[in-house]
Amino acid sequence: MTNAQLNELKQRYVASGAASPATQFADRAENALIWDADGNRLIDFAGGIGVLNIGHRHPKVVQAVKDQLDRVMHTCQTVMPYEGYVKVAEKLSQVTPVRGHAKVMLANSGAEALENAVKVARAATGKNNVICFDGGYHGRTFMTMAMNGKVAPYATDFGTMPGNVFRAPYPVPYHGVSEDEALRGLKMALKTDANPRDTAAIVLEPVLGEGGFYPAPASFLEAIREICDEHGMLMIVDEVQSGFGRTGKMFAIEHSGVEPDIITMAKSMADGMPISAVVGTDKHMDASGGNSLGGTYTGSPVSCAATLAVLEVFEQEGILEKSQALGDKLAERFAKWQQDFACVDNARNMGAMAAVDLVADKASHTPDADLAGALCKKAREKGLILLSCGLYGNTIRFLMPVTIEDEILEEGLAIIEESLEELVGSKTAASA
Ligand code: PMP
Repeated sequence: MTNAQLNELKQRYVASGAASPATQFADRAENALIWDADGNRLIDFAGGIGVLNIGHRHPKVVQAVKDQLDRVMHTCQTVMPYEGYVKVAEKLSQVTPVRGHAKVMLANSGAEALENAVKVARAATGKNNVICFDGGYHGRTFMTMAMNGKVAPYATDFGTMPGNVFRAPYPVPYHGVSEDEALRGLKMALKTDANPRDTAAIVLEPVLGEGGFYPAPASFLEAIREICDEHGMLMIVDEVQSGFGRTGKMFAIEHSGVEPDIITMAKSMADGMPISAVVGTDKHMDASGGNSLGGTYTGSPVSCAATLAVLEVFEQEGILEKSQALGDKLAERFAKWQQDFACVDNARNMGAMAAVDLVADKASHTPDADLAGALCKKAREKGLILLSCGLYGNTIRFLMPVTIEDEILEEGLAIIEESLEELVGSKTAASA
């Protein structure tokens, strides 16, 4: 079917809240390229929103999935367990830097992992509250909507949110929130609304994902670790977007050396197959009784096979080194953009988790969300999938596969430069 025919079906049958605003339908994909239903070729700088750190349809993952399909496609693991689940648990326990010996539960999506992490924290501490952060994003289930630090558009139409969720400021000095101020805010939350005697966990992203790719300073993460220890609260780190190699390490928290109690992960775990995980210190993970975590499809055999293949690819193909190298390359290009374009500001990257902000005025950091929207639209017309994010909607984030070929990367970056020139003109051109 053509894009036009598929758009008609979408309009008629897909619920508005679930319908993509994009009008090109994916037909086929390979590494950093997608072809749409009309045969147009697009470069994917969104990587399925950070799902495809090793690219679309990595051949080793495809083979592992096919092999698994030939053996067992599904059994509910609580009824009849299978090798893949326990092997994934073993591997994740070995690579995830939580305190002590790690145990694992598998789920299907990022939001579901966060839901379960909160369940574990409540069971382990016997306490209720969770503290989350401004600009944070954790999903679209009720608990995670309540935890998100950005309400619109996710939680605007859905009535009352679950309680016992409190919020503190996230340190983003560029937007006027210093690390000191963020810590003061957190301590104030603990003194006022979120009594530590009833607070189970502090949940944060070590690098804000949807909130704009701002990394928390290592000293802030260390302070949170100390506060959690002081009050018997768990430190839960949400690495759904920053994990699995995006930042040049397996998990972003490793850059700080801080050991949390629990790490949640999803997205790039299985190269696009649905799976997520909660990995935490054994005594916490074992706090709730039989059959209380999980569900019919959690950690399906096919997704587990894909995860094991992804972990093998990481080892065999030096994915962490590739992530760092890609980040270095992007940083170099961003530095040039900051010189060439008056609107490009605040280039930053932790490995390949990289972003720039588009601003109306560099001195005041005035966000230009309209320009970010216009850039993404123009890039898409020229064959590049590009995503914005951030509390102010003006961050352009880069989530292309770390396995992207140099020529394709170059082609994509050139599309951004050409689009920016068409939209705002370059500084050099303006002053010439
Ligand atoms: N946590 C973070 C940090 C995320 O970036 C996301 C997805 N963008 C989620 C949780 C939710 O994941 P999912 O969409 O798989 O539920």
